[in-house]
Amino acid sequence: MDKNVAILGLGTMGSGMAANLLKAGISLTVYNRTPAKAQTLVNGGASFAAAPAEAAKDASIVIAMLADDTASRAVWTGKDGALGTVRPGTVLIESSTASPAWIRELAGLAAQHGAELLDAPVTGSRVQAATGQLTFLVGGSETALQAATPVLKAMSKEIVHLGPTGSGAKMKLINNFLCGVQVASLAEGLAWIEGSGLDLRKALSILNNGAPGSPLLAAISDRMVHRNYAVNFLLKLMAKDIGYAQAEAATCNVNLTTAEVSEALFERAIAGGYGDQDMAAVIEPLRTCK
Ligand code: NAP
Repeated sequence: MDKNVAILGLGTMGSGMAANLLKAGISLTVYNRTPAKAQTLVNGGASFAAAPAEAAKDASIVIAMLADDTASRAVWTGKDGALGTVRPGTVLIESSTASPAWIRELAGLAAQHGAELLDAPVTGSRVQAATGQLTFLVGGSETALQAATPVLKAMSKEIVHLGPTGSGAKMKLINNFLCGVQVASLAEGLAWIEGSGLDLRKALSILNNGAPGSPLLAAISDRMVHRNYAVNFLLKLMAKDIGYAQAEAATCNVNLTTAEVSEALFERAIAGGYGDQDMAAVIEPLRTCK
């Protein structure tokens, strides 16, 4: 592929995505605020950039995979930010789960540099990022998406074009609103099962194989039962997504009351010191049978 690609952000998701770009033979430059996280990729053939501006300067596609709006703003527009060096015609891909309001602002800033922004957040988690099995939820122009498609394909099993700028970000927040509420209700349900004296294995089998069952319920109930909080998705990032979802739904005059109570459970877990563990740890403050 004749494209130079830069990726900004090598956390749980960005590192797996970058590894798949390298595997596809794409010429790749990587940037991460904490440089040590780039080492494995550099050993694998990626070029290292000490700043986002350096990463973006020769790239025809720049991908960001960062924690939140604050991180995205810092990396695109801060000191030595990527927007300082992007060239006209560059396609910028914001894959972080960000607020649609920030996506709109970023798209405007990109246009001032003659670049086009796609919002392309993902579904799938650590394993899907590592195995190139993500689904991209894309907002933006058909032309920009066509230019980006070979690169997105190297990281995904599916690319869904949802509409104009911001459409991907909106869809992602709806998706994570439903996920967050389900994880929060599972935490309460499982704490209840544990306190009830019911047989845990039988109770979970009924839930997982019955109407409430879902891939999320299966994965998270297993992590909760085994207290396995090795990070697939940081608890504090789910709290962030639920907050963004509430703000976005409010612009359509929809009040996400179930998000409100779910967010309270995630915030309680953060206050209890679980913010940097997997979101399954949301159950810990609720457990009465330790
Ligand atoms: P992560 O492991 O916490 O990585 C976050 C990345 O953002 C790191 O590269 C981090 O740099 C960088 N960052 C944070 N604050 C920054 C700042 N102020 N300035 C510059 N860089 C900053 O998160 P992740 O799990 O990869 O998630 C990345 C995005 O994808 C998030 O928006 C998340 O909601 C979304 N997402 C995650 C999953 C999942 O299952 N993990 C699934 C779908 C979508 P450092 O390394 O220096 O801290």
